[in-house]
Amino acid sequence: VELPIHEAVLGRAAEFGSTPALIDGTDGTTLTYEQVDRFHRRVAAGLAEAGVRKGDVLALHSPNTIAFPTAFYAATRAGASVTTVHPLATAEEFAKQLKDAAARWIVTVSPLLDTARAAAERAGGVEEILVCDSAPGHRSLIDLLASTAPEPVVDIDPVEDVAALPYSSGTTGVPKGVMLTHRQIATNLAQLQPLITTGPGDRILAVLPFFHIYGLTALMNAPLRQGATVVVLPRFDLETFLAAIQNHRITSLYVAPPIVLALAKHPLVDRYDLSSLRHVISAAAPLDARLAAACSQRLGLPPVGQAYGMTELSPGTHVVPPAALHDAPPGTVGKLLAGTEMRIVSLDDPGEDLGPGASGEILIRGPQVMKGYLGRPDATAAMIDADGWLHTGDVGHVDTDGWLFVVDRVKELIKYKGFQVAPAELEALLLTHPDILDAAVVGAHDDDGNEVPHAHVVRRPSAPELTEGEVMRYVAERVAPYKRVRRVTFVDGVPRAASGKILRRELRDRAADEEPS
Ligand code: ATP
Ligand code: MG
Repeated sequence: VELPIHEAVLGRAAEFGSTPALIDGTDGTTLTYEQVDRFHRRVAAGLAEAGVRKGDVLALHSPNTIAFPTAFYAATRAGASVTTVHPLATAEEFAKQLKDAAARWIVTVSPLLDTARAAAERAGGVEEILVCDSAPGHRSLIDLLASTAPEPVVDIDPVEDVAALPYSSGTTGVPKGVMLTHRQIATNLAQLQPLITTGPGDRILAVLPFFHIYGLTALMNAPLRQGATVVVLPRFDLETFLAAIQNHRITSLYVAPPIVLALAKHPLVDRYDLSSLRHVISAAAPLDARLAAACSQRLGLPPVGQAYGMTELSPGTHVVPPAALHDAPPGTVGKLLAGTEMRIVSLDDPGEDLGPGASGEILIRGPQVMKGYLGRPDATAAMIDADGWLHTGDVGHVDTDGWLFVVDRVKELIKYKGFQVAPAELEALLLTHPDILDAAVVGAHDDDGNEVPHAHVVRRPSAPELTEGEVMRYVAERVAPYKRVRRVTFVDGVPRAASGKILRRELRDRAADEEPS
């Protein structure tokens, strides 16, 4: 696909005309396709007039709002690369990203202006801070809409030019800037589109953040490309989320496992009419088949589908097609997208390719593999080998029909006396206990220096009598002896990233702090 991303997404906007493109889920404000098309062109003109040039990096620092896509596509149309910023980032974290990305422009929202100012001051090199809404002393997108400057003519090379510069989630280490070209993102959209059939009349709820590649793709680029309507929520709050599904007659949910968990287990769910839903798709972290089944049964829906990907893959490689939801084996993350290749290689001998049923590291080659990490040639080379295979760092296996199952990350596997234990498997098992609301498992060291599974468990408030011993017994009765949980800590909550991933690193640090030295 040789189109810049704004053309690839908004190419049919005129055709969709007065169809609502975006609806603010809190106050109902609506933007039609015609407006998004016109607004992003005017804002692009205004940005060019303000001095944005091809190759400039623009930091988009905002929770989900109906203005977010306009800001994004206006920036790329003006020739900028957009680095999306976590709206809850501290000034220090934001400054690091600004500096790393050498950002020249910030587009933020007035409630976050203080953080943006502090970050810009620390980082240096920022030309101007604009706001999406309005704030004294700052130009706003609304001001730019009034620009009478001609639409900028920018010569974008979709193959080379970076459209988006998202930072990886930082689940396993320092977040790295991922260079995704126009072509990589647009090609992946084209690969995904036949499998995530949305179109006019479909209503998507954008509750996962647009700043993360999953939200950017599944909740913004893909539905807007197809003429669907996106109802936008600024953050996840279960009641608001359920009310939005009911009031806006949402048809499709793209969520992460914690939301599937809430839909399966939370008592509030029964109070809302969720009958408009046609399917639920989960991605971003391991989802257990039993939990998925509990969710779809409760809602009376086809099985929850999954997708798999990562920031470095623009982001998708596998999807369970809606037409195959009933046939797909439980727990699969889907089938490989057309135009993409996969290998599964032995963890002990990376030269050895494994066949169906055997677990190893997932390697991917295809048009959606990132251009590289910004300013980190060594990290890029460690990730993408000389033959173009991207080493995902995830462990998985395929069945004889080609359905992929993701086990966990290579780095998270717990090595107990030479055996490998996947924390995700134990977490899923713990969630089947009626008195356990949430759980996370990490490796810890026992007195003999063995690495052992350590469970962090959130008890149901009505079951304070649940003991560590009972949790360990529950697991021991259901798994091979080497997989037993050997330490349990009760916690108030499990730390998660905005994308829904368990922050196991944080739990390990916490456990290390508490260990007597
Ligand atoms: P970092 O690379 O900075 O440590 P991250 O890997 O969490 O952060 P992302 O690119 O957001 O950043 O996440 C990609 C990862 O999410 C994959 O490598 C995989 O581990 C996990 N993942 C995505 N989809 C699924 C899925 N359906 N099932 C299991 N895991 C998934
Ligand atoms: Mg990663």
